[in-house]
Amino acid sequence: MPFPYNKVLDEDIKKIISVTDEKRVFVGDEIREEFYHDEMPEYGMYAPEVYVEAISTKEVSEIMKLCYKRNIPVTVRGAGTGLAGGATCKYGGIMLSIMQMNKIYEVDKENMSITVQPGALLCDVADVVSQAGLFYPPDPGERTASIGGTVITNAGGMKAVRYGVTRDYVRCLEAVLPDGEIVRFSSNVVKNTTGFDIKDLVVGSEGTLCVVTEITLKLIMPPKISRTLVMAFDEIEPCIETVPKLLQQAFIPTAIEFLERELLEIVERCLNKPFPVVEGKSFLIVMYDANNQEEMDFCIERACNLAIEMGALDVKICNTQERIASVWSVRASILEGMKADSDAQEECDVVVPRAKIAEFVKSAKKIGQKYSIRVIVCGHAGDGNIHTELLRQNLSDEVWEKNTKECLRELYQKSKELGGQLSGEHGIGNGRIEQFEEFIGQRIYKLHKDIKLAFDEKLILNPGKVIEVEHYDK
Ligand SMILES: Cc1cc2nc3c(=O)[nH]c(=O)nc-3n(C[C@H](O)[C@H](O)[C@H](O)COP(=O)(O)OP(=O)(O)OC[C@H]3O[C@@H](n4cnc5c(N)ncnc54)[C@H](O)[C@@H]3O)c2cc1C
Repeated sequence: MPFPYNKVLDEDIKKIISVTDEKRVFVGDEIREEFYHDEMPEYGMYAPEVYVEAISTKEVSEIMKLCYKRNIPVTVRGAGTGLAGGATCKYGGIMLSIMQMNKIYEVDKENMSITVQPGALLCDVADVVSQAGLFYPPDPGERTASIGGTVITNAGGMKAVRYGVTRDYVRCLEAVLPDGEIVRFSSNVVKNTTGFDIKDLVVGSEGTLCVVTEITLKLIMPPKISRTLVMAFDEIEPCIETVPKLLQQAFIPTAIEFLERELLEIVERCLNKPFPVVEGKSFLIVMYDANNQEEMDFCIERACNLAIEMGALDVKICNTQERIASVWSVRASILEGMKADSDAQEECDVVVPRAKIAEFVKSAKKIGQKYSIRVIVCGHAGDGNIHTELLRQNLSDEVWEKNTKECLRELYQKSKELGGQLSGEHGIGNGRIEQFEEFIGQRIYKLHKDIKLAFDEKLILNPGKVIEVEHYDK
């Protein structure tokens, strides 16, 4: 094993500058503290030795060649909005920002695709696509994420219920391997059985296998009409039990998000964003896309009747842009609200089979009570990816740390028992690394290690994420 890694020396910095530009190379104290962590500083704060902004695939390749030769760790940085502690230099070394590689090429209408560099923002790509009359559906809650970050974490988001996740839209990738070689995975084709699907393996690999430098994405035709409904319930059980029933209807909703009044009050109080529905304690925000008004009327009528049959107090149909925006803006502000409300949070990103959502939600509440932790469940109910937020309330550092650990352990255990997974969309990174091996079992863990070694035998790319470096010796 190459561990411990080499420190970056002055001569390494000189070489990096010689293949880039000194204006884009920052060393030691010149590196801003925001680059020590992602959106979850709780998962570790680590200072990079050097921060480099690359502007081309060639530069990425030259930097990787140097680091490979010198055995220096490299961590790629996108927009830093990740929620797994992934884009951090756990073992020092180089933070390689690709945010200046942000070209968005013209939409290819014939092939219904678009090619972009990884630093382009998701919101900008979606806008360019929309202006061309097409649609890029993946819609994670943070639209200022880099498109490369969303690909390499296989981001999910609200609209996964109907349209699927990022992986479903990646046609092909250009990438730089840890030794600096530039390769392409697949091409702009709609199907491919030419060997193993390495492209799909790279999607979601959390920056541990290669550096993604160009992406071609599949596009689809946009829906003609979208509507949002808010279903208000008094009790949590009928609210959650409505989710699988909505999915059994003729038209699949685009999104089904679950929220509790407790959480809405936090967003209202801390961020001054009112939720436009006053009645009820548990809510489903349900979005439908349709191709004509008749289809939409059918969806809405069926969904409203179903909600009322299930015990909803009311269903609000949001058909003005203001009301739709206010509902989704509250939903998008949950993380910010929780950060403002509580001095420490933990997040459990499990995903369970849809038929087990209600059981998981009920158990999560009980587990929270057992450890005196305020547990709030919210989020992507439509695909079983219930975000379970643990908020600190008047607990000492020591008790919070101990109880959180135990509480998370039980939540993960419950997810596994119900046939679920450890992470639905945020990944393992550094935040869930301790639970990973136990959750997936030794044989599958070893397969992960072997795959990592096949790409990166020197373990220089994002070391200590997903799998601990010392575990390769086991
Ligand atoms: C408010 C909020 C809401 C969110 N909602 C969702 C949601 O609904 N669904 C969801 O899935 N996620 C969500 N996220 C998480 C986050 O937006 C996604 O994980 C996003 O994909 C990260 O993109 P990024 O550019 O910020 O990546 P970063 O955080 O910079 O990096 C993430 C990981 O990818 C690696 N990486 C980045 N770019 C490259 C590259 N070009 N090549 C190789 N490795 C690379 C990094 O090393 C790191 O391991 C949310 C985050 C926030 C703050």
